[in-house]
Amino acid sequence: MGDDFSDVVKRVLASRVGNRCSDPGCRALTSGPQDDPAKAVNVGVAAHITAASPGGPRYDPDLLPEERSSPGNGIWLCQNHGKLVDNDPNRFSVDVLKKWKADAEAEARTWVGKTAVSLSAPTGHLSIGAKVRIIPIIPQEHEQSDFSVEADEGDYFVFREEDSERRIEIPKSFIEKIHNLSYSKPALVHLSGRLQWISRKRIFVLFPEKPPNGSQYGVAKDVDFGYPVRFSINGTFGREDRLPVS
Ligand SMILES: [Zn+2]
Repeated sequence: MGDDFSDVVKRVLASRVGNRCSDPGCRALTSGPQDDPAKAVNVGVAAHITAASPGGPRYDPDLLPEERSSPGNGIWLCQNHGKLVDNDPNRFSVDVLKKWKADAEAEARTWVGKTAVSLSAPTGHLSIGAKVRIIPIIPQEHEQSDFSVEADEGDYFVFREEDSERRIEIPKSFIEKIHNLSYSKPALVHLSGRLQWISRKRIFVLFPEKPPNGSQYGVAKDVDFGYPVRFSINGTFGREDRLPVS
């Protein structure tokens, strides 16, 4: 049997992360209703950071049995990721799992008592590793691309396109709304205009949805004009008809 978690410990682990998977790329909800109105379904597992028994993944012989079965040695995951981390303990080391757990708990702390859709404080709900879709964005094919939040650099986020090395850096002042529905993935990052990056050296320009009359494009309100200068970006806000075609 090993040093398994009690039901109380499992409930604590699930609650500390808002009943969501602690894998930063997942965050699947692990509980919900069953057809029977008296029952709920649970698809979460309390995984051991270090195994409950000798020979198990990441087993640590130095721990006492009560440490092994304590909440400190558990991480709440969906069933898929619970299997994954135990099948590949080299990739999912103790350090990796502890980091996942700490990040998931920190994120859950920001959800407590908040409505699911946040229209104010728009940059408060993106955590590292979160999957996002960015709209509107140019070139338009990227509106269907999934990005993940790679870094929060204070004034701007670094977004990395999934399955590629493309990164774009978007000043928080360009972000109008973040729709972060708890059960909808990815989160939707709504820019205050259309974004075009010119090169990989993080040069971008932003346009409002519709140009003011005539061909001249303006720049959306609340755009941080000082951003390119402060970050020594050799770029400028310009006209859409002069942008390079990617
Ligand atoms: Zn998961």
